[in-house]
Amino acid sequence: MSDEKTLRRDVALANRIIERFGLSNAFGHASARIPGTNRFYISTRRSPGLADENNLLVIDTDGKTLSGDGTPNSEFWIHARIYAARPDVNGIVHAHPLACIALTQIGEPHRVVHNQGGAFADGVPEYERIGLIRSRELGDLVAQRLGKGIAVMMRGHGITTALADVRAATVSACFLEESADLQMRMLAAAGGDAKRIRAFTREEAELTGGQTGPSVAAAGRAWEYYSAVAEIKPLGG
Ligand SMILES: [Zn+2]
Repeated sequence: MSDEKTLRRDVALANRIIERFGLSNAFGHASARIPGTNRFYISTRRSPGLADENNLLVIDTDGKTLSGDGTPNSEFWIHARIYAARPDVNGIVHAHPLACIALTQIGEPHRVVHNQGGAFADGVPEYERIGLIRSRELGDLVAQRLGKGIAVMMRGHGITTALADVRAATVSACFLEESADLQMRMLAAAGGDAKRIRAFTREEAELTGGQTGPSVAAAGRAWEYYSAVAEIKPLGG
């Protein structure tokens, strides 16, 4: 398979993964930078579960649609402006997973509470402003909040992950939601007392992040697993 075909397939698969694994339903999108350019592949404006590798759009970091049939997702500015700000980022996922949203709305920062959360040892910043990211200016604000990190929580809205490739961004989004879901369960089991959660220390988080983090996982069994399941799970999970 050519590099272009592989990348297109990865983008479509990444979109289907975030839908099949419940990180998004009708809304949400994954993209990949065309290597060495200011352009990226992104799905058209429909559920990520319906993404089609033969029908992707190519958009540039100024928000111009260069090729493809269909309308861009209204929040494509998230992708455009993060790619503009971060030459090291080649894959982005924007999704609306419930546990992450719940954390933002109870004012609890993300904490590392299990191995797969270790990737987020540096913390996950929060973009506080509510509403959709439908302008270049708002895209820039999300990129600023993300900073040099790999993920940003968006209050009452969702998450965005930005990594070296779309596989890592996808695995990272799945890990972040798994982590937030566990944190919510722990909070509930602890009667809402966040102090009872035995969050990993910085050293512990770095250790597990190095062992199971998204870059490692994307290269191996996590991407293999998520993509295999996405291929056979029906739409709707
Ligand atoms: Zn959104």
